[in-house]
Amino acid sequence: MSVVTRFAPSPTGYLHVGGARTALYSWLYAKSQGGEFVLRIEDTDLERSTDDAKQAILDGMQWLGLTWDKGPYYQTERFDRYKALIQQLLDEGKAYKCFMRPEELDAIREEQKAKGEKPRYPGTWRDRTDHPADEPFVIRFKNPLEGSVVIQDHIRGKIEINNSELDDLIIQRSDGSPTYNFCVVVDDWDMGVSHVVRGEDHINNTPRQINILKALGAPIPEYAHVSMILGDDGKKLSKRHGAVSVMQYRDDGFLPQALLNYLVRLGWSHGDQEIFSVDEMIEHFSLDDIGQSASAFNTEKLIWLNQHYMKTLPVSEVAARAKWHFDHMGIDLSGGPALEAVIAIQADRVKTLKELAEISTYFYQDFADFDEKAAKKHLRPVAKQALLTVKETLLAVDKWDPENIGNAINQAAEILGVGMGKVGMPLRVAVTGSGNSPSLDITLNLLSKEKIAERIDKALTFIANRENS
Ligand code: GLU
Repeated sequence: MSVVTRFAPSPTGYLHVGGARTALYSWLYAKSQGGEFVLRIEDTDLERSTDDAKQAILDGMQWLGLTWDKGPYYQTERFDRYKALIQQLLDEGKAYKCFMRPEELDAIREEQKAKGEKPRYPGTWRDRTDHPADEPFVIRFKNPLEGSVVIQDHIRGKIEINNSELDDLIIQRSDGSPTYNFCVVVDDWDMGVSHVVRGEDHINNTPRQINILKALGAPIPEYAHVSMILGDDGKKLSKRHGAVSVMQYRDDGFLPQALLNYLVRLGWSHGDQEIFSVDEMIEHFSLDDIGQSASAFNTEKLIWLNQHYMKTLPVSEVAARAKWHFDHMGIDLSGGPALEAVIAIQADRVKTLKELAEISTYFYQDFADFDEKAAKKHLRPVAKQALLTVKETLLAVDKWDPENIGNAINQAAEILGVGMGKVGMPLRVAVTGSGNSPSLDITLNLLSKEKIAERIDKALTFIANRENS
C-alpha cells in the first residue's frame, strides 16, 4: 500500500504551532515511508475563511519547509463532486431528506436535555416518504443502527464506539452546501489518503466519517489523533502565552530548523536524543512513538535549540535567514562586512536572529546616539587622550587583521602607560556605540580604518560637548 498523508487546515486564522506540529508529523510519516503528502485547504466555511489566512498557512508551511507533493486543493472547488456523491447516497437509500424545522429539533433537544439524555436527532424522517413539496430540507446520512465502529488509533490505541451513540449526521445543509464531515470523507478517499494524522479534537468525527466511507464503498484509512499543546501553565496554548503563530516565530528571530526540532520532540521521542536534523527525523519517525498525553510548550527549550542551530548550521544558511531581519529593519548590508563574518563573531552572544540583527547594526550604519550608561562611564574627559592615541596607532596599521589591530591597541596603552581597559572601553563605546561587543580585535577587523577614525572623532566631539555643557 502506498502511503499518502495530508494536512487539512481550515483557513480561519494563521498557522499556529499546534497545526504546524500536526502537519510536521503527517509530513514526516509520508517522507519516512517514501509516500506523498497532500495539502488541502478546508475552506467550506465561507464566513470564517479568508484569503489572508490561506496565504498565511501556505507561507507558514513554506517557511518550515513542509513541502507538499499534491495540492493545495481547495474544498470550495470540489462542490460538484460532493453533490454527486450525496445524490448517489440518496439514490441508494443511504441518505435521506429531513424536513424537520429547526424549532422542532430545538424543542426535541431541550426535552432530551431535561431528561438528562444526550441531545440527538431521533431519526424522524429516516423512513418517511410523505415528503412535502417546496419545503426546505437537509440531507442526513443513515448511520447504521446496530454494531459498532472500531478504530485502531496509532496514538490512542483501540477505540470502540457503538452506533447507537451516533445519530444521523447532516451531510447537506438546507442551502444545498455539503457539511464538513462529508467533504473530509470524500477528499480523503479521492486523494488516496492512507493515514489521517490530525488533532485529537477530531476524534468524535472519526466513527461518523468511517461509517460514511463504508457507505461509499471507500477504503478506511488508518488514524493517528495527536494530543493538544498546552502553555507552560498547563492551559490550552493561546495568544496569552506569547507567540503561537508560526510566522511570529520567524519574526521573533527563530530558525525554522529550531522550531521543527522543537515541535517534533513535543510529543514524539526517539531514545533520549534531543537534536534532530530533518533527515534524522525522517529516518527515525514513527506514528507509534507519539505520546498520548498533552505536551506543554517550553520557550526556554526552543531558545536553546535556536542557539544551537545558529551556531551549527552552515553559516551561509544562517546568513540568508538573518538577512531577512536586516531587510525587515531597513538596514542595507551592501557597504558593510559579509554577514557570515558578523555571524561568526556574534552568534554565541544572542538567542535569536532578530537580536543578532539588532546588536549588529553598527557594522552597517552609523548609530545616532551612544548608549547612555556606557557613554557616561567611558566617554569622559580622561578618555580623550586614549582615543586620540589609539586612533593614531590604528591608522598606522598596515595589514588590517585582528592580530595587528590587537597590537595597535596594546601599543596605545603602552604609550600612555595605562591598562588595556582604559583604552579598550572608550574605543569600544566610540566604535560600537555600547559597552558590549565581541573582543575588539575581531570586531574592528570587520570595519574599515576610516570608519573607525570617523567614529572616534565623533566620540571626541561628544566628550568635548560634555565638557562644555
Ligand atoms: N479542517 C480541520 C481543522 O482545521 C481538520 C480536518 C481533518 O484533519 O480531518 O481542524
